[in-house]
Amino acid sequence: MRGWRALPALGWCALMACSQGGGTEDGTPTSGGDTVEVAIDALPGVNIPPLRELMGRVAPAQDSAFAPIPAALCSRDGMHLRREARDAFLRMHGAAAAEGISLTALSATRTFGHQVSIWNRKWNGAQRMGMAPVDRALDILRFSSMPGSSRHHWGTDVDMHSLEPGDFEQGEGARTLAWLRTHAEDFGFVEVYTPESDRPGYQPEAWHWSYAPLSVPFLKALNEASIEEKRAVFEGFDGAFLADSVDILGRYVNGVSDEAAGR
Ligand SMILES: [Zn+2]
Repeated sequence: MRGWRALPALGWCALMACSQGGGTEDGTPTSGGDTVEVAIDALPGVNIPPLRELMGRVAPAQDSAFAPIPAALCSRDGMHLRREARDAFLRMHGAAAAEGISLTALSATRTFGHQVSIWNRKWNGAQRMGMAPVDRALDILRFSSMPGSSRHHWGTDVDMHSLEPGDFEQGEGARTLAWLRTHAEDFGFVEVYTPESDRPGYQPEAWHWSYAPLSVPFLKALNEASIEEKRAVFEGFDGAFLADSVDILGRYVNGVSDEAAGR
């Protein structure tokens, strides 16, 4: 089950095969039980969305590639993940609940427009008014993504339990984080913004977990897309001109844990 961690140069089908009961995507049983090594390009069943979708031009409620998370498992109605990630989240949520751990979803897929509303609200907030533009952007980027660059656009990532770092330091939050660090990988979820001091980009986010069988290939695809195509997305919000100067793609999109990067 943990086979994918030992296969940094290989694909995620090892996990997919396991998650589907020991068979490959097309139903072929796997010999010996638990891993099948196939390169990402050959991986059946992972459709890489077009770049515009990976950069937030998605409409989850109208797109059959996405599926809703039941409202009872969310802090509010209307949350979606890509279908396969949603199904894995439901399995993980159920397993956690059986052990008294609540993985309430606080945020899942966010569109470019949604991210613009978060970003612009922070950009124009009173607390950052006196800052130079680049400092304002860097301050927002401690915890929030520039529109177009959020992993929440992908439909693979979910925030759970609490958005307050301190809540994970003791009590229920600490138990929840410990449960996730022990069990989430059994369901394909990995911690993205880990506490290592040498990881660039965002501050640690104990609440943000990603469905790696999809998100690792998605990150790879994003990194392989042309820089001009990506730059064209960074417009239509306050401070968009700073995307290059804060190194949004290198430092933030790629400032993730080894597990989230597929390393
Ligand atoms: Zn998040």
